[in-house]
Amino acid sequence: MSDTWLPSSWREKPIAQDVKYPDEKHLATVLSKLSTLPPIVTPQEIERLRYQLGLVQRNEAFLLHAGDCAESFDACTHENISSKIGLILSFSLILVWGARLPVVRVGRIAGQYAKPRSSSFENVGGREVLSFRGDNVNGLDVNDRTPDPERLLRAYFHSTTTLNYLRGLLTSGFASLHHPRDWSLTHVRSPSLRREFETIVDGLSDALDFSRTIGVESNSTSYERGGGRGTLGEVDFYTSHEGLMLAYEEALTREFTSSKKKHYYNTSAHFLWIGDRTRQLTGAHVEYFRGIRNPIGIKVGPSMEAGELSRLLDIVNPDKETGRVTLITRYGARKIDDHLAGHISAVQKSGHPVAWICDPMHGNTLTSSSGLKTRNFGTIIEELTACLRIHNACNSRLGGVSLEFTGELNEEGFSVTECVGGSMELSEEELGLRYQSFCDPRLNFEQSLDVAFLISNHFKQ
Ligand code: PEP
Ligand code: MN
Repeated sequence: MSDTWLPSSWREKPIAQDVKYPDEKHLATVLSKLSTLPPIVTPQEIERLRYQLGLVQRNEAFLLHAGDCAESFDACTHENISSKIGLILSFSLILVWGARLPVVRVGRIAGQYAKPRSSSFENVGGREVLSFRGDNVNGLDVNDRTPDPERLLRAYFHSTTTLNYLRGLLTSGFASLHHPRDWSLTHVRSPSLRREFETIVDGLSDALDFSRTIGVESNSTSYERGGGRGTLGEVDFYTSHEGLMLAYEEALTREFTSSKKKHYYNTSAHFLWIGDRTRQLTGAHVEYFRGIRNPIGIKVGPSMEAGELSRLLDIVNPDKETGRVTLITRYGARKIDDHLAGHISAVQKSGHPVAWICDPMHGNTLTSSSGLKTRNFGTIIEELTACLRIHNACNSRLGGVSLEFTGELNEEGFSVTECVGGSMELSEEELGLRYQSFCDPRLNFEQSLDVAFLISNHFKQ
């Protein structure tokens, strides 16, 4: 990395998706406060994730990156957090069982508040208003669209509250593979889906009992190295969000020494990604991302040129370090055949180590006849299967998936209805029943498990 990088050097570059605050002084006061608050995550945890993503790159682990398109302050509740974690754990358990590989779990959680928009303004009932940019910028209510810096502070505190509860869940047995029944499948109405999951849970319990009996439980495996716990049956969990609001990210970027070297860590999350709309080679986001030590994701869509991709890798990972870059491809089922093979070949020629992750959600969004934003389960699966096939054909390997899903239930205990299809055969007419997302449509619990079984069965063969 060039010596001239500082957490603030992005300020000299053009900023895509910039937010203009009416009161710059107020913003400066908030940023100054943020820069004194404690880190949300630690450098040790960040290093540990880098190590584990290195294993993903070497096909020794699989990455599950999942959660909401956008979190909201109001959805920061006990029920929502535990159902999210429960779904991520259930999904990963199915993968572990089928693929016989450790799963690295990274939630879109505890900080995923800001959203890029295709247009800065929108027309609501004949009125031109600023677009909603996420809870850390402005309000969903059309009368609350002026960016307010106080929302950045609220985002910090909602992130810490979420992570505090998450850490509690992880250390008090909820996330233990010894008790997967606590993750609640009670509302899954498909008997075959429940049966399939219970078979895995029974098998896993037997396997863990056996391990305990023969005394392997206290030995840490190579997967668990990199500093930290090492108990079979306990799971790691990491947080992530799109690194969009650079002023916020800068305020939480801190210098620490690790293995006798000084590094700048973004302490707002373990993993951050650059969105498909902010990955310009000479732009502010790439400038910021190139200097942080965290493992980073880059969204790769159909408008990425193959040469541009390898230049981007040279910028963000000049020393070709393992575990640093995860490429999250999101072309759309109809476009993946035109782009993925070329991108794989460009990266192979460049010699850059990367993990390839499939995001089958963002290239497949459509508007239903009733006007609701939705995604078709079948199309999501089409992109995912095409991705698996193309990686195989190119002598490469899919290292993980990035999904927007939710285990959220309504008051009566029913799953959300935002994507059509899946084993529950959700129809377009049913979308309005429990549509709760205020951003992109998410797979519900049952649809997510359908995807988990599909991937798990693929890797079993
Ligand atoms: C997202 O992940 O929610 C998103 C906006 O993705 P992309 O940058 O790939 O469009
Ligand atoms: Mn999204």
